Amino acid sequence: MPAPDVAIDAGATVKRARMIALLDHTQWDVIVIGGGATGLGVAVDAQTRGYRTLLLEQYDFAKATSSRSTKLVHGGVRYLKQGNISLVLEALRERGLLCRNAAHLVHDLAFIVPRYKWWEGPFYGVGFKLYDVLAGKLNIAKSRRLNRRETIERIPNVETKNLIGGAMYHDAQFDDARLAFALAHTAADHGAAVINYMPVTGLLKSGGAVVGVQAVDQETGTAYELRAKVVINATGVFADAVRRLDDRYAEALVATSQGVHLVLDRSFQPSNSAIMVPQTDDGRVLFVIPWHERVLIGTTDTPMPRAEIEPRPLAEEVQFILRNAARYLSHDPSEADVLSYFAGLRPLVQPTQGGTQTKAMSREHAVVISPSGLVTIVGGKWTTYRKMAQDTIDDAIVVGGLPERPCMTEHLRLHGCLDRHDPALPKAGHMQMYGADAAEVQAFLDEDGARGELLHPRLPYLRGQISWAARHEMARTVDDALSRRTRALLLDARAAIEAAPLAAALLAAELGRDRAWVAAQIAAYTDLARGYLPPS
Ligand SMILES: Cc1cc2nc3c(=O)[nH]c(=O)nc-3n(C[C@H](O)[C@H](O)[C@H](O)COP(=O)(O)OP(=O)(O)OC[C@H]3O[C@@H](n4cnc5c(N)ncnc54)[C@H](O)[C@@H]3O)c2cc1C
Repeated sequence: MPAPDVAIDAGATVKRARMIALLDHTQWDVIVIGGGATGLGVAVDAQTRGYRTLLLEQYDFAKATSSRSTKLVHGGVRYLKQGNISLVLEALRERGLLCRNAAHLVHDLAFIVPRYKWWEGPFYGVGFKLYDVLAGKLNIAKSRRLNRRETIERIPNVETKNLIGGAMYHDAQFDDARLAFALAHTAADHGAAVINYMPVTGLLKSGGAVVGVQAVDQETGTAYELRAKVVINATGVFADAVRRLDDRYAEALVATSQGVHLVLDRSFQPSNSAIMVPQTDDGRVLFVIPWHERVLIGTTDTPMPRAEIEPRPLAEEVQFILRNAARYLSHDPSEADVLSYFAGLRPLVQPTQGGTQTKAMSREHAVVISPSGLVTIVGGKWTTYRKMAQDTIDDAIVVGGLPERPCMTEHLRLHGCLDRHDPALPKAGHMQMYGADAAEVQAFLDEDGARGELLHPRLPYLRGQISWAARHEMARTVDDALSRRTRALLLDARAAIEAAPLAAALLAAELGRDRAWVAAQIAAYTDLARGYLPPS
């Protein structure tokens, strides 16, 4: 197997400046546009096959859809109901691989469907048994029926009126933005350059073929022309905009659908198990999930006409979630209880796809090759990012005339991977996300007493974690540090706003910024984070 020729950022550090320094004198094999789950997965796949890989992200890694998911690594029990067995099989296999390859960020979660009608027992029992069978030897734990007492023990706040019992199955849960960064870090460990705040503004063409990209460093204004054997468009809901840089008449591939979540105090569901509401009043499923000592509830499915980087929940989506959650909780949440709202946009494959150009890899994702050779990957889900990347690079090898090499990611441990039972994995929740880097982070915190102080009394993070994010994890803004390297914004939007001045000062000290920068960051972040609060 070809060894990657440069490890740009092996160890606990990735540095943006070091990667930018490579731009002027590197011949890239693969340029990936977009630093969400899909693009980062593609970069890891390409680089670990030995192709020189550059990834460019217009904002921060996972700024768009990939930090706004339900945080489930799942086979998708609802696809079973639709009879889509092959999709469930693929996702269950990927779930099993991810539990091994990113064990510090992905863990088992029990889901309980409370039963209020006698026939629901056999109905869910059969479905969940099939789910177990499909997972095969990668199954997490067997599903089973619960009686009324067991159901109440596991979910103390469940609505008990007419409750008969429950059905329990297992899936996995993760921290999406942290997994995205672990992928960026993994790609860099193997020699790829992954650069945030570097939008692609145009495509370079020669004889009708795409041969590279134009990009601009948002921090310095420097423009680049970068060449590669193959260019991959992994821009999620923005994929059609990038396709139209190539061909302004390119047909639309993506249908955009919004999903909203809201976050509540843990007291609304003080349990380590999640509730799965199998049938909302619009026929969807809804999850009530413990996450980082809070409760996450979602989601919705609202077609949207446009792609936006900061989508906003609609009032009716919030009411829908509160109404359906209340059916299953003894203590009904109201809008005043919401700590944070967030919305994300699903990049779904247009149902009309499947024509001659399109190579549909499954009902969920598609790799589309334009006549110019631009390779676009759309659809899918976080759980299947690895398989999507494999399919994309298999096609990119042909398009770019790259030497054929096998995919290496099936058993590739991602950066920081540490088994959940490894004594080196910290017990404290706010440190677990670092996995194998935790000891190094702890040493950094211990170097200076102030670093070990809480960032904010209602948030689980320490001041030094913001400094670490700037120094070692490519955080460039308050948004990067509070929304994705830590998850402060999603856990408590008000606390995140209150923490912004301190976070800005800590970042400025690391990045060498002045007071004007600090003031501008606080203003911009406060404005952004207000969009995550219920209207007062
Ligand atoms: C509400 C919701 C819940 C979900 N829940 C789950 C779940 O529980 N489990 C699961 O498996 N999946 C889930 N998904 C699906 C999953 O989140 C998405 O499939 C996945 O995150 C999409 O990743 P992506 O990289 O394709 O898109 P994105 O994350 O949007 O990444 C695309 C990136 O491209 C960048 N970009 C765009 N244009 C340019 C340009 N010109 N130059 C440079 N960069 C550019 C954007 O800034 C963006 O960062 C959920 C999705 C939603 C919306």
